Amino acid sequence: MNFSRLALAAALTCVTAVAPAQAQDSNRMVQPYVAIRAGVVIDGKSDAPRRNQIIVIRGNRIDSISDAATAKVPSDTPIIDLSRATVLPGLIDSHTHIFLQGEDPAQGGYDVNILKQSISLRAARATVAVRRALEQGFTTLRDVETEGAGYGDVGIKEAIEAGYIPGPRMFVSTRAISTTAGYPLEGYAPELDMPTGAQLIDGPVQARKATREQLGHGADWIKVYMTHRSWIGKNHELVSQPTLTLDEIKAVVDETHGWGKKVACHAYSGIGLQRALDGGCDSIEHGLDMTDAQIAQMLKQGTWYCPTISVYYTDWAPANTADGERDRKRASTHEQSFRKALKAGVKIVFGTDMGGIPWTEPIAQEFPHMVDFGMSPMAAIKSATSRAAEMLDQAGEIGVLEPGALADVIAVAGDPLADIKELGKVQFVMKDGKVFRNDVK
Ligand SMILES: [Zn+2]
Repeated sequence: MNFSRLALAAALTCVTAVAPAQAQDSNRMVQPYVAIRAGVVIDGKSDAPRRNQIIVIRGNRIDSISDAATAKVPSDTPIIDLSRATVLPGLIDSHTHIFLQGEDPAQGGYDVNILKQSISLRAARATVAVRRALEQGFTTLRDVETEGAGYGDVGIKEAIEAGYIPGPRMFVSTRAISTTAGYPLEGYAPELDMPTGAQLIDGPVQARKATREQLGHGADWIKVYMTHRSWIGKNHELVSQPTLTLDEIKAVVDETHGWGKKVACHAYSGIGLQRALDGGCDSIEHGLDMTDAQIAQMLKQGTWYCPTISVYYTDWAPANTADGERDRKRASTHEQSFRKALKAGVKIVFGTDMGGIPWTEPIAQEFPHMVDFGMSPMAAIKSATSRAAEMLDQAGEIGVLEPGALADVIAVAGDPLADIKELGKVQFVMKDGKVFRNDVK
């Protein structure tokens, strides 16, 4: 941070005490106040940070934010001193898998998770994943399918909401949808009827039925795999196998939109990505290789883009192999697509594919990639706060520090606008007005 701590300390002594609110409004009696002294506030929406602010929280919502010199705080309000820290809204990761654990291929990889781990073991590990997310300041997750764990994400979400386990706000998408030969488990003897990591459909009738089942059992979003396998084509381009037909994706989108909900489409490139756009998908996940025309279509349709850069920089096969060439191509085209989408003004949200990455790794590792590829630190912060909230239809509720918003508040010691890596060192986490973590010195 580049402001004078002495000046700040002076400003913070000027907090004015006012009469207790209980005397003014009996409805407020049940909702205690707490105030945060913030050295710097990045509110998730404004373009500039503000120094020396007082955030007053009543119950689980932000009551006011004002300059410390003129702030009016009800007397006897407990004060949390974050005057040496940068305070931000709780972060939002828009692409996670709490039921995956970054399965190591050397230990059987993805298949072992489904074939050898009981649902109770997987659920227990998911509770650790959500706690890890909250510890790192991610107070909201859009979790984009359970990878064979059925409707387990709905249960985890309910357990968090009921206070049984700590975790972020969850927007869940249950089983996800793909087509026959469009999702693992695969490679087994064709005589075997193997379980799959997503619900497989063929034809618009089955597509609509699966969508109805998932929405009926609690999906907040519907997740669709519009591409599956990928490889390098004759001209060294990235090719991906399309899955759902246009009729199939249109049935999913039509049904989901009828419920007032949205569809997230995993789509790498080519025909499958094009069908996702033509079918009216609300967000493109990964979008590794997007053409100029596809980016223009996203702009026109208001489609969200959720890149997941970090995950494509791990576990590359050796360079002189077909898989190795594909792995490198996925990363390089992803960078090009990200830069083009950013320049064109496509709405970008922060996403990681955590779960594809072990939950023991830092979620914030995605931020430096976004900044390296041309995004300003403030825009990167917005992609994980107010922009993501907008995609989730939660604008003004989460992803912002402003009066009326839910009190999801985090703090870091350094200045993330000077070094985005500071977001990987979250020291204070409040969700819903309750302090989950405070290591600020
Ligand atoms: Zn994913």
